Amino acid sequence: MSGMILLGPPGAGKGTIAAYIQRERDLPVVSTGHLLRQAIAAGTPLGLAAKTLMDQGQLVSDEVVVGLVRDFLTQPVCRHGYLFDGFPRTVVQAEAILSERIAIRLVCCLTVSEEVIVARMSGRRVHPASGRVYHIDNAPPKREGLDDETGEPLATRADDQPEVVLDRLRVYHQQTKPLIDFYRTRAALEPDLAFVEVDASQPVAQVQSEVLRMVASEM
Ligand code: ADP
Ligand code: AMP
Repeated sequence: MSGMILLGPPGAGKGTIAAYIQRERDLPVVSTGHLLRQAIAAGTPLGLAAKTLMDQGQLVSDEVVVGLVRDFLTQPVCRHGYLFDGFPRTVVQAEAILSERIAIRLVCCLTVSEEVIVARMSGRRVHPASGRVYHIDNAPPKREGLDDETGEPLATRADDQPEVVLDRLRVYHQQTKPLIDFYRTRAALEPDLAFVEVDASQPVAQVQSEVLRMVASEM
């Protein structure tokens, strides 16, 4: 059983790297952002409540998000491991991982400057159904505005509007950044937990190979 967390600010490249590690290591990705967007698209009460918060760049409640993760992990595909993308985002969520005995071997933190983040989020395009991520300059689709696999139209995320991006960065600094020290401290005490930082301002291929190397040595 080997669990991994991809930590980092919004727009750092967590989803991009998660998709790559999923392909290379056959690890299921648990993206709480994608699960929430699916709930919104399905029009469930949970999705409707989450949408208001997400559109404002705020976090959804710990209880709701931990419930989504708990449900996801009951799937047989998660028996041998999983990769968290965008979870945990608060100390309460990190403590839930501990209290629910969700095994984690590696925490990989993607570091990048705010300037780069803003440029990444303004050019991000997504395929809503699958969560596949593109960038108009850095990772363009083969045909402009269309998903490579399905040919369906790509969308801009509502929370990638510049005003909302600033709110999301504020929320990141207040609520998620403390997790860096949380995991660095725990990794120093626990022999089975590794904490690593990767410079995510490098080109995608380089970030991918550095993270894959960490995964290969720690999990
Ligand atoms: P996150 O999941 O952390 O919010 P994404 O993986 O969605 O981030 O990446 C944000 C945007 O930046 C996407 O448009 C993606 O194509 C682009 N991107 C991701 N990693 C890199 C990179 N290393 N260099 C350039 N662009 C990147
Ligand atoms: P993401 O796709 O990871 O950028 O997440 C998009 C939005 O979904 C965030 O800005 C939050 O509103 C919500 N969200 C995703 N993951 C979490 C989480 N672990 N805790 C709380 N809210 C979350």
